[in-house]
Amino acid sequence: MISRRAFVTGLAVLPAWPALADDARFTVTGAMEQGSLALGQAPAGSRVALDGRPLRITAAGRFVFGFGPNQTAASLVTVRYPEGGGDSRSYMPAKRQYDIQRVDGLPQNTVTPPAEVTARIAREAETIYLARLEDTAGSGDVLNGFDWPAPGTLSGVFGSQRIDNGVPMSPHYGVDMAAPVGTPIHAPADGTVSISGDYYLDGGFTLIDHGQGVSTSYLHQSRRLVKKGQRVTRGELIGHIGQTGRATGPHLHWAMNWFEVRLDPSRSTRAPRPQPL
Ligand SMILES: [Zn+2]
Repeated sequence: MISRRAFVTGLAVLPAWPALADDARFTVTGAMEQGSLALGQAPAGSRVALDGRPLRITAAGRFVFGFGPNQTAASLVTVRYPEGGGDSRSYMPAKRQYDIQRVDGLPQNTVTPPAEVTARIAREAETIYLARLEDTAGSGDVLNGFDWPAPGTLSGVFGSQRIDNGVPMSPHYGVDMAAPVGTPIHAPADGTVSISGDYYLDGGFTLIDHGQGVSTSYLHQSRRLVKKGQRVTRGELIGHIGQTGRATGPHLHWAMNWFEVRLDPSRSTRAPRPQPL
């Protein structure tokens, strides 16, 4: 039985959800803004749902979910406690202002790909999309926050409207770390490799499933050092920075998802920015 629905709001102007002086026995923390991962804690043995969709919960009662990059509606979290009863609360992500980024000098065949590769690009995008929908338990390490996977200079931020060689593209859903070819890339948290391959736009590409719907990906690598199905631990070497695929210079494009929801990995890192070179 749900005892109380705390607040449901359609207002998009709240900067973040205010702390509530109430007796709900669960918490949700994180950046609490558009395109960020939220971390929940409920009594062990609870059942949790997000907008009516059941969420995986660890033995210790921890759960996660993502706020969409352009989400303007609140997310409703419902927790049913093991001994009966429950609570609901809604969380409105703070609104973000995204940049416009112009990128010139890209290989033109990656901005307007030739007709003979459109089927390949679509197939690769579908493979990635489906892999991100996997719902595995993982080790729970994702709840400890992420390390930056490589050193470097932040050269691209999440959510920017991209104009590549003058052509408007979809937003930039990741962060870019510029560093020389060959710079080591390390797993930012424990996980299992779900894709490792050479893709047309993404170049040397690796996808790691961290469990609970959270995945991270690594683009434009010069070398990939892990295989599909391989378990990796936080800090393990997984590849090298490169300039393969749609790239103007050597950099790592690092992306994060909660299932199909695009997230800004820089909002889940333990340090605000990568180590400088
Ligand atoms: Zn990028």
